[in-house]
Amino acid sequence: MGFKDELLEFTHAKIRFNEPMKRHTALGVGGKAKYFAEVDSLYGLNLLTTLAQKHRVKYKVIGNGTNVLVSDNGYEGIIICLKKLSDVFFKRDEVRAMAGANLDKLIKFTLDHRLTGLEALSGIPATVGGAVVMNAGAFGHNISDRITTVETLCGGKIKIYDKEDCKFSYRKSRFLGKKETVVSASFKLDGCERDAVMNNIKKYRERRKNVQPTGKSCGSVFKNPTKYSAGALIDKAGLKGYTLGGAKVSERHGNFILTDSRATASDVYALIQYIKEEIFNIFGVRLSEEVEYIGEF
Ligand SMILES: Cc1cc2nc3c(=O)[nH]c(=O)nc-3n(C[C@H](O)[C@H](O)[C@H](O)COP(=O)(O)OP(=O)(O)OC[C@H]3O[C@@H](n4cnc5c(N)ncnc54)[C@H](O)[C@@H]3O)c2cc1C
Repeated sequence: MGFKDELLEFTHAKIRFNEPMKRHTALGVGGKAKYFAEVDSLYGLNLLTTLAQKHRVKYKVIGNGTNVLVSDNGYEGIIICLKKLSDVFFKRDEVRAMAGANLDKLIKFTLDHRLTGLEALSGIPATVGGAVVMNAGAFGHNISDRITTVETLCGGKIKIYDKEDCKFSYRKSRFLGKKETVVSASFKLDGCERDAVMNNIKKYRERRKNVQPTGKSCGSVFKNPTKYSAGALIDKAGLKGYTLGGAKVSERHGNFILTDSRATASDVYALIQYIKEEIFNIFGVRLSEEVEYIGEF
């Protein structure tokens, strides 16, 4: 039996063929995934990854697609989206969130249970899995600050990592770019008045609104190099508003690229390369991408 037949017969997951990835990414660009599946259980996830490995079909796990640029040529394998694996619950005195849970759902849960510690992440449109892998953060706080353990699935086995073993650093963890899927994370939070948690959420959302442009983007395109702000360098280089095809450097925040309805992944990629080249020529600083590429560029 081939991969496609086994996929349809055994996985019970919702499988789509030749699925346009622009539907599943915040940038709204990119070609088609040969196979696309949304899973809502660990069982389903394990079945799909095992099957892909057995048939030597490439696979990639995504969350909310808010930090990925998918090639216009698409992806010659299976993209597995975890958004439906989204429970948030108590495990003893910790909060545990499954990888597909939206960060805002997790933060609402902490608000309802009068717990503080994650509010700075409010408004980041990520899933818990994507945020753990990227060690997402804002306003001096990172998701790793409150993590105790991360649970993964790899080669059919569940593994639990203590925080110290996750190798968290700036927008990075040991899981980034690896064939190990983050399936849940546990958080140790402090008790707090509900109003105080609510006020924190409002405060951070307001701050976000003041700096972040609206429109389709992947958030910050580049990591901040040591001692510099990528956005400030791009601004100083006069690149705000610079446009290539349907991709444009935001006038509001130099580290954001906005896409319009004509944009292609190649436009975004070419703009990223142009910015890197300009910043190196002008300041001698090498920018590196925070956004993750999927497929061939
Ligand atoms: C408007 C906007 C604002 C943003 N603001 C911020 C911000 O303030 N701070 C910040 O840090 N980021 C920000 N981002 C970027 C983005 O939201 C984060 O990087 C986030 O962590 C990505 O989560 P995701 O679920 O969308 O992951 P995806 O984009 O789906 O995936 C990102 C990477 O993680 C991998 N991955 C995803 N889930 C898993 C999993 N369960 N197991 C293994 N690998 C996985 C993917 O393969 C990919 O390599 C913003 C983005 C947007 C669009």
